[in-house]
Amino acid sequence: MSQSPALFKEWSGYLKPEDISQLQSAYQFSETAHQGQFRKSGEPYISHPLAVANILAQWHLDSQALTAALLHDVMEDTSVTKTEISKTFGKPVAELVDGVSKLDKIEFETHAEAQAENFRKMLLAMARDVRVILIKLADRLHNMRTLDAVGPDQRRRVARETIEIYAPIANRLGLNSIYQELDDLAFQHLYPDRYRVLAKAVKAARGNRREVVGRVLEAIKRRLRSNGIEAEVQGRQKHLYSIYRKMRDKHLTFAQVHDVFGFRIIVKDVPACYLALGALHGLYKPIPGKFKDYIAIGKANGYQSLHTALFGPFGSPIEIQIRTHEMHKIAEAGVASHWLYKSSDTSLSTLQKKTHQWLKSLLEMQSQAGDSVEFLEHLKVDLFPDEVYVFTPKGKIMALPRGSTAVDFAYAVHTDIGNRCVAVKINQELMPLRTELKNGDRVEIITAAHAKPNPLWLNFVSTGKARSRIRHFLKTMHFRESAQLGERLLNQSLVPLGANLAEVKDAQWDKFLRDTGGKAREEVLADIGLGKRLAAVVARRLLSLGEPGPAEAVASGSVVIRGSEGMAVQFAQCCQPIPGDPIVGIISKGQGMVIHTHDCPVIARARHDPERILDVAWDPETRKPFEVNIKVVVANRRGVLAKVAAEIAEAESNIQNVNVDPEDGSAYTNMYFTLQVQDRLHLARILRNLRNIPEVVRLARVKG
Ligand code: MN
Repeated sequence: MSQSPALFKEWSGYLKPEDISQLQSAYQFSETAHQGQFRKSGEPYISHPLAVANILAQWHLDSQALTAALLHDVMEDTSVTKTEISKTFGKPVAELVDGVSKLDKIEFETHAEAQAENFRKMLLAMARDVRVILIKLADRLHNMRTLDAVGPDQRRRVARETIEIYAPIANRLGLNSIYQELDDLAFQHLYPDRYRVLAKAVKAARGNRREVVGRVLEAIKRRLRSNGIEAEVQGRQKHLYSIYRKMRDKHLTFAQVHDVFGFRIIVKDVPACYLALGALHGLYKPIPGKFKDYIAIGKANGYQSLHTALFGPFGSPIEIQIRTHEMHKIAEAGVASHWLYKSSDTSLSTLQKKTHQWLKSLLEMQSQAGDSVEFLEHLKVDLFPDEVYVFTPKGKIMALPRGSTAVDFAYAVHTDIGNRCVAVKINQELMPLRTELKNGDRVEIITAAHAKPNPLWLNFVSTGKARSRIRHFLKTMHFRESAQLGERLLNQSLVPLGANLAEVKDAQWDKFLRDTGGKAREEVLADIGLGKRLAAVVARRLLSLGEPGPAEAVASGSVVIRGSEGMAVQFAQCCQPIPGDPIVGIISKGQGMVIHTHDCPVIARARHDPERILDVAWDPETRKPFEVNIKVVVANRRGVLAKVAAEIAEAESNIQNVNVDPEDGSAYTNMYFTLQVQDRLHLARILRNLRNIPEVVRLARVKG
């Protein structure tokens, strides 16, 4: 066990003694966990978490964040669990470490610009706690500072990820100095030659113009002094990558980039900013169109300053930024400035309100609460409460509304994928289609060629697209099924009239359709299937529009029911017909045909409306399983339910539901089963098996 690093002494400048002792034990915990691991540079691994914690200490982050920074790689790289961290260092620290580990697991794969933006949002959405992002940025900063030690492929990958993901996040959080350092380090590793050339050019230019710059600096200082403005004047230079980016994006040569040099003027308050601006515009002529008032209208990340450009004394333009000390702190440290300066600055909370658009709610809560403990509580915000970001199997990121399920995802990818999805793998694991997606999930939809949307999906989908596509499909399917049934019903009604559908001529149909107000033939057939029109009436009308044919009725046929008609044919719940039962169909308006057993009381009641009653018969090829209820009366003996269930299974039936009457002290008990059967023969076989059980005293099929 090594000594506590000297850094702890430095940190004690702003942390309490008990914080320092927790950090010391976190350091030792981490050192033990990483024992035997080394950085690519050859240093013991602990040097990395220590450096990360130290970066955070420079921002004066709280001890929870520092503790988490010391532990940030133990879950990833060692056998330490979240529970263990939680027990030793408390739940908030464990949550922070877990948050950082989760971010480490998701990989940035595609490089399209829109994808980079989604990836940044995904990271931010997953972080939940701003400190997780700050730890991650400090981690990345240290890895970038030590990137020389790793191999060229990994170096390029990490540098690209930094420039596309982490530097922009730092920029948006207003962490200016980290943003620039990340950018320049990444630039250096990504394009070493361009970096070298540009660095040299900037250095040379600075040398050439040193005298000029010195004279301008003196002139500015003198002018401000003579106007009675107290100010700190600094020479300023753009970071290399932003010069490079400007040259690349605007097709400029290095000589054409004007703001390589500039001056920053820091004054005591806002009125002094405008006074200084006036004084400088009096010193050199301003370049038209270059003045920007970011004090009156701040940037989204909380940045405030006055920007202007002047015609310098030797023909070169001079860029000027004017700001207060407070604005300067925000510009340099952004969100972290909350920790850095929170004790000394009372007016900071007003600035914080502007500090970040997507930290807005958070900062408003802070200004209301005014209490830093509560502020830390509120750091756990949902930055994108309305969206969830997930990966496709190819690594593309999709943004979906929060609450979206696998089915929503499938429809978002493509309507065909939605219509044919049967299962989903989320993070390699098979999950129900109704599973709600989480940020960072990798979602893979499994489809089958003949699968169809299930009406039950409407109960859980949350996107409008999925909902409307499912409805559309069901409606079309219902229509097609109804039309097919209508065709058979119509044919059946034609047969007794000595005709059949194939003989009806197009001319007859055309006349009929004209009379019905120009509906399509399919629509009329669907109407018949749905019971909105009577087949017998349509049949007689069609025939009356054609050549006179043989007049009298022949034998009437039955409509054959296959059980596969879908929603156009329903099986009555009151009598639960199964293949083999004598059956009758009743057409009911708007619902299509409902099949009852011939002895069902519903049929007796419908006799007064004979046109709605149809002869139907089972197709011998019916293969769908049907539900049937049976009642079994058994002697009350141990294990009898198991025996009955075993016999049912033996007869190759599924039990859908079982109910047993409550124990009432009597010798017999009633059991009710809902079974799946093929037909009457199958049911008979099951009943025969059950009769062989000695405890079974009575058996009956139950209808209704
Ligand atoms: Mn790390």
